[in-house]
Amino acid sequence: MKRLFFKGRIIIQAIFVVLLLLGLHRTINPVLVLFMPLALIAGNFFCGWICPFGTIQELLGKIGSLFIKRKIKMPSFIQRYAQYLRYLLFLAILPLVLAGIIERNIPIDAYHSFYTFFDGDILTILAIVFLCLFLFISLFFDRPFCNYFCTNSIEYALPSFTRVFTVKRNKTLCVNCKICDKVCPMNIQVSTAGELRNIQCINCFQCIIRCPVPDALSYGKADNLLRKLKHKLKGNSLKNTPEVNHNHKTAVFSNKEDIQ
Ligand code: SF4
Ligand code: SF4
Repeated sequence: MKRLFFKGRIIIQAIFVVLLLLGLHRTINPVLVLFMPLALIAGNFFCGWICPFGTIQELLGKIGSLFIKRKIKMPSFIQRYAQYLRYLLFLAILPLVLAGIIERNIPIDAYHSFYTFFDGDILTILAIVFLCLFLFISLFFDRPFCNYFCTNSIEYALPSFTRVFTVKRNKTLCVNCKICDKVCPMNIQVSTAGELRNIQCINCFQCIIRCPVPDALSYGKADNLLRKLKHKLKGNSLKNTPEVNHNHKTAVFSNKEDIQ
């Protein structure tokens, strides 16, 4: 199964890079909207499997690993807030886009610059600088643009919160080695999750592939989200009741872990 994820993803990524090089990416754009409803069910496959700009950042990251032993990771206390940066950027530019003041894909957007570069239509010097900057950072920091600046993939990221199929950690088997945290290109703390429900997850499955314990991490059907939230709310309301306080402290803690 791990091999299937690994090989399947590489083949699909390669196909979409070739389509880009052949100038066919604009033709297939309408098909890509199908990845939005798919995200509702199975999570965000667009960023980790389809987007050639993500693939190139990943490739540069692998080249960087040949020279740099330890990749730079965002400290968790910054990551907690920094992971929302691209959503804030999206909200900031949305009124300007709706008012027709700017296009959604502004020239300083490295994602847009990347595509227009392959169209032979790179817009400004500034766009080239931004594109090169993010590609350079990719050598020693995983997917810098995807993590904090990509506003183009938010339509695939947000629906993934309700995903029915997700990455699941078996707490009994897990030995807490934290390799999954280290290999996650989106800086997600997989080692504290029960069922992953993080909208930053791009379904690259690196966590599952690199986990040293068989079946400690898997991809499968999640428990019903509404049932979990109901359980959490119930746990919170009972938390202040002295007779049941002890038991429900445990329940609240495990739910906090589960919805990562
Ligand atoms: S890599 Fe596997 S065993 Fe290690 S912390 Fe993550 S889930 Fe647990
Ligand atoms: S949590 Fe796992 S599947 Fe999701 S982005 Fe991180 S490594 Fe990839």
